[in-house]
Amino acid sequence: MASPCIVWLRRDLRLADQAAFAAVAATGPVIPVYVLDDETPRHRRMGGAARWWLHHSLASLDAALRERGSRLILRRGRCEEVLAAIAGETGASAVHALHHYEPWWRNAEKAVGKRLALHLHHGNYLAPPGTVLTGAGTPYRIFTPFWRALGELMPPLAPLPAPARIMPPAAWPASEPLADWALLPRAPDWAGGLRAAWRPGEDEARARLEAFAGKAARYEATRNLPAGDGTSLLSPHLHFGEVSPAQVWHAVAGAGGSVGTFLGELGWRDYAQNVIVQFPEYGARAARPEFADLAWRTGPAAEADLRAWRRGRTGYPIVDAGMRQLWATGWMHNRVRMIAASFLVKHLLIDWREGEQWFWDTLVDADYGSNAVNWQWVAGSGVDANMFVRIMAPLVQSEKFDAAGYIRAWVPELAGLSDSEIHDPPDHRRPRGYPARIIEHRAARERALAAHGAAKGAR
Ligand code: FAD
Repeated sequence: MASPCIVWLRRDLRLADQAAFAAVAATGPVIPVYVLDDETPRHRRMGGAARWWLHHSLASLDAALRERGSRLILRRGRCEEVLAAIAGETGASAVHALHHYEPWWRNAEKAVGKRLALHLHHGNYLAPPGTVLTGAGTPYRIFTPFWRALGELMPPLAPLPAPARIMPPAAWPASEPLADWALLPRAPDWAGGLRAAWRPGEDEARARLEAFAGKAARYEATRNLPAGDGTSLLSPHLHFGEVSPAQVWHAVAGAGGSVGTFLGELGWRDYAQNVIVQFPEYGARAARPEFADLAWRTGPAAEADLRAWRRGRTGYPIVDAGMRQLWATGWMHNRVRMIAASFLVKHLLIDWREGEQWFWDTLVDADYGSNAVNWQWVAGSGVDANMFVRIMAPLVQSEKFDAAGYIRAWVPELAGLSDSEIHDPPDHRRPRGYPARIIEHRAARERALAAHGAAKGAR
């Protein structure tokens, strides 16, 4: 019998269009392995909502592997040590995996490559991040030209089918029980809303994609309306690699209408990876130098405001609805993410990294590249960013995008208000228990502009 190969899984928890499985399934025995690495210093620890998702996604992948004669081996520790130990125990000759671009995964790939024959494949992005280059051979920093250049390489290759059978090794190495990893919250169990909203795993990713393909042509008209269901809800499935972007592309590209706008959003996902390849510290460091001098608010009053923002108690219904949707379901509509993020950074003048961290912990789609790129875009601190001085007015946004139904769903205290009152409840109609606005728009705007002006002036 040929010696087995290890397939090292990370954010690529699928069997179809999974190049590592496709490369080895026909060559001999395969040992699929997932390593939970909470030990390596500088390995960004996954947030709470993502851990909930991971638990169910691993269970689902294990079940799919068992249907094909295989199974998923679970181990904890440093990736290079765990994989070397499994290779020693089983005589495995090589490790196959998909490329990942978070700085800690790139470090782990280097460390594994020093000890074992590591074969890295592509397939989690439309094009390999770092390979879409300008005429001068440099990576793009701005989205629009990046997307134009990426478009020239499209469509992606047709997706690969899932292997029908995966040969097991002569003996399976030991695996830890998934329940021992304590990925699910207990005492308190805050995941009820997540369970109601989501079903992690490749089957559900496929079902969501099929359901969305029928609506993709109308994306442009519906995607900004938080009360509707105009977007695909694929983000956590894409983040965990339960579906590949090539599968998404090929399922929707023929839909016509405004599907091009949707494909552009997939392009933002690639763009974000392209940014973190160039700037690995993007989640922790502003790209624009003046932001290092910005006097973000700190101290007890700012901490109280940050708490109010996290809990959805700012007195701005659209912001509060978004933050409560996030807490309950692990997801927030993109338009509302922009409004809530802008509110934290500009109205409350709180460092965008506080928001990035909160989203990291609470989003089921928390993604290092996409989160950092979007936070820096909203803050105005990024390589391609909205200007800091362009300050979103949450009440205007709420009316413009017809958020009345959305607010009623997530801020039930306000459900009795009319469509015209609910975006900005007049003081005498504000129900008891719903907070007053923690800051007025005009005062917030002036404070933010002054702080930004001072930071620019200091350079
Ligand atoms: P759709 O509108 O159906 O889009 C399809 C897919 O394209 C998404 O699933 C996603 O993979 C990708 N996509 C869409 N918009 C963006 C975007 N602006 N940037 C990058 N990829 C995009 N998205 C994440 O996946 N993870 C994050 O951690 C994340 N953090 C964000 C933080 C802020 C402050 C903001 C403003 C946006 C963030 N986004 C993030 C982007 C976006 O909000 C979500 O991808 C989108 O809301 C997911 O819903 P959907 O799958 O229905 O998207």
